[in-house]
Amino acid sequence: MTAIMDRMGQTELKPWRDGWAEQLEGRSCVLCELVGVRENAWGVRVFAGQYVDAYLPRSGSIPGYTVAVWNGRHVSEPTELKDEEAAGYWLETLRVGRAVQQSFEHAKMNYQMLGNNVPHLHAHIVPRPLLDPVPNRPLPWSFLDDGRQDDRMLGIAAERLSSLLT
Ligand SMILES: [Zn+2]
Repeated sequence: MTAIMDRMGQTELKPWRDGWAEQLEGRSCVLCELVGVRENAWGVRVFAGQYVDAYLPRSGSIPGYTVAVWNGRHVSEPTELKDEEAAGYWLETLRVGRAVQQSFEHAKMNYQMLGNNVPHLHAHIVPRPLLDPVPNRPLPWSFLDDGRQDDRMLGIAAERLSSLLT
């Protein structure tokens, strides 16, 4: 604790939100509810695999931003998967990543597995554009969450990725 305080200086340390332990176990999990859905207000599915369902979210401002969701029982950590499940999850995530890589310009592909807000195993696959808000650095969440993708471009991207992944 002292080490964290020293490193963070004046930053106030806060507890995780109420009910976090239950959310880790899957209570009211929005991704458990999402699996199997083709399209909703949040995003459009481009891949339904054995281990992964992948979606293009309508949010954010990075073209090609894709989320690969573990589509089995609720797990919050990849370490909860059996070896075969972990291999399947990662290989299907890479399959989606390859399709995104082929379809969108990128200076670098990013794979973010955080789960700090929605603790159901998923990966944010982000093709970092050639002209980027913070090149050579992690992308702030606001670029994936704020604003809305252009509907027409999202539709074109969804068709492209779906056809590559079928
Ligand atoms: Zn879940």
